Amino acid sequence: MWQIALYGAIFFVVTSFTIFWTRFAGGLALVWPGTAIAAALFLSLPRSRHLMAAAVLVVLSTLATSLFGFGHEWAFPLGLINIFEAWFIARLLLHFRPQRDYLDRESGIVWLGFLAGLVGPLPSSVAGGIVVTQIVGGEWHDHAFSWAVAHGLGTLLVMPLVLLLGSARRSGPQALLKRRERVASFAGMVVLTIVISLVAFLQSTLPLLFLPIVPLVLASFRFGRFGASIAVLTISIAAAGSLGMDAGILAELAIPLWQKALFLQFYLAGLLLISFPLAVALNQRERVMQELVDREAMLRLIADHSDDALLHLDRHGTIRFASPSSQRLSGIEEVMNLQLAVFFSDTDKAIVSTALAAAVQHPGRTEIFERSVVRGGQTIWLEAKLRAVESSKQHPSAFVVTIRDVTERKLEELQATLEARTDALTGLPNRRAFLDVLEGHLAGAHDHPFALALIDLDHFKRVNDTYGHTVGDMALKQVAEIMREAATEDCFFARVGGEEFGMVAVGPALETVSKVCERLRLAIQRHVMTDSDGGAFSITASVGVARIAERCSSTMALQAADGPLYSAKASGRNCLRHAQDIDRFGPREGPVRKLPLTVVS
Ligand code: GH3
Ligand code: MG
Ligand code: MG
Repeated sequence: MWQIALYGAIFFVVTSFTIFWTRFAGGLALVWPGTAIAAALFLSLPRSRHLMAAAVLVVLSTLATSLFGFGHEWAFPLGLINIFEAWFIARLLLHFRPQRDYLDRESGIVWLGFLAGLVGPLPSSVAGGIVVTQIVGGEWHDHAFSWAVAHGLGTLLVMPLVLLLGSARRSGPQALLKRRERVASFAGMVVLTIVISLVAFLQSTLPLLFLPIVPLVLASFRFGRFGASIAVLTISIAAAGSLGMDAGILAELAIPLWQKALFLQFYLAGLLLISFPLAVALNQRERVMQELVDREAMLRLIADHSDDALLHLDRHGTIRFASPSSQRLSGIEEVMNLQLAVFFSDTDKAIVSTALAAAVQHPGRTEIFERSVVRGGQTIWLEAKLRAVESSKQHPSAFVVTIRDVTERKLEELQATLEARTDALTGLPNRRAFLDVLEGHLAGAHDHPFALALIDLDHFKRVNDTYGHTVGDMALKQVAEIMREAATEDCFFARVGGEEFGMVAVGPALETVSKVCERLRLAIQRHVMTDSDGGAFSITASVGVARIAERCSSTMALQAADGPLYSAKASGRNCLRHAQDIDRFGPREGPVRKLPLTVVS
């Protein structure tokens, strides 16, 4: 309610003053600011209060027109049209720009200009033009044109100020003028604008109408939208005053008064077009700057307390900002102005520069690499994430990097990988690990021949049947232990199946593979197993060996060793057999399964 009273009072004073002061030759007012005040009231009220506000405003408008304008006879219809116009503008603004950013964005100010200055006054100008023709005669469209221009311009001149004051009331007056010295310089700006406007309009020696642009632009720069509003308003009052008094440069023009008024309106519209987009753009930039400052503060906080090193590099990869954790992770007192590579080993330099180059190639994408480094005698793992920052479309000019100690995770990963490659019962490498090793050797088999052996325990089913599965498991573990003891750098053992083991022998062991396998077979045979009741028993193993000197699939390689193994089983078990055509390993023995390949030599 107090809002309606406040806006109503301002509306009444401003409207009365406008009618009294700028209604030249008994026609329409030169500029009509009343609509802006009424429209701002509608914008600030909920829809349910619009009718009441409209009623109050119509009464006030009727009163002002009766007292200072066309008299009481036509005051009511004119009041109705005026207030409809304000309501219509408010509805248009809310409908097309519900986010209400009329003064916050350049697009907002364009919408405000279009709706409040151009479209909004059109229907009322037609109605108003017809009514004014009834009062003072003349063509209705002439009056409608004057109405549209005066109301459009008046609304545009005043609406920003009213909206700003309305929003400043909500956010506190300090938002408008924060410090005392600002108030002083604001007052100085107003005085300067008044003096320059008076000089421009009241003297008639020189055409100095361009001069008020100077304080206007200054005001827009220094005080933003509020400064621009006040400056344009000050210039408008000075201009309207000089026109009303028929003094100064406008009095010298040899054109009718209405043409002078029209000229002045366009002049003022020009000033608006200069100052407002400027002020709004500045305001936008100020907000962006503030956001940057806020974000910077947040980043500082994160950087200061993060366990990760947060780095900013220039385009050459030189560190230009480093958070406190950098010292711990790099092991260097001061990393500023050094290269990113100082965090890593010398041998990783190429990896670092490759990652930087990849980041440049794909701006916006995060490059990640992990390296192990030695810090204080301990190996730790560092994970670097880096991304290029685009400063212009063509040249990514900088990098942001985070470096994190991922040792714990890395060890867990390594442990998991190890577990995935280890046989749970015996602790030997499992089939997957064996195949990996085998495939590794197969790739270079042509240049580096190697031997592959399959060792299968004899009649193991019987062990289980006789002593039980648990004792069978124990026996498997003990066989695995024998193999672990036999394993060397060149001789790799794995459990490839239930009671079947595999061996890959390279280098010197290749020549002696026969001996190694024979020793192993004997060791198994001689080992005394014990059952749960203290009873002792022994087991034997059959061995098939193949020498691989050509690249082939792991399946084929395994088949090559499976042949002699079958042969060993067939010839009574507890013995060693070589692939059929491996002469170097000794004489051919026993019936042999036909081999599907010729990789053995
Ligand atoms: P052959 O001399 O012909 O190799 O006879 P075998 O009985 O050893 O061969 P077969 O393939 O018929 O049986 C293998 C047995 O190995 C069957 C299974 O009970 C046993 N076995 C496989 N894995 C395990 C295991 O993890 N623990 C125990 N206790 N026994 C196993
Ligand atoms: Mg067996
Ligand atoms: Mg078997």
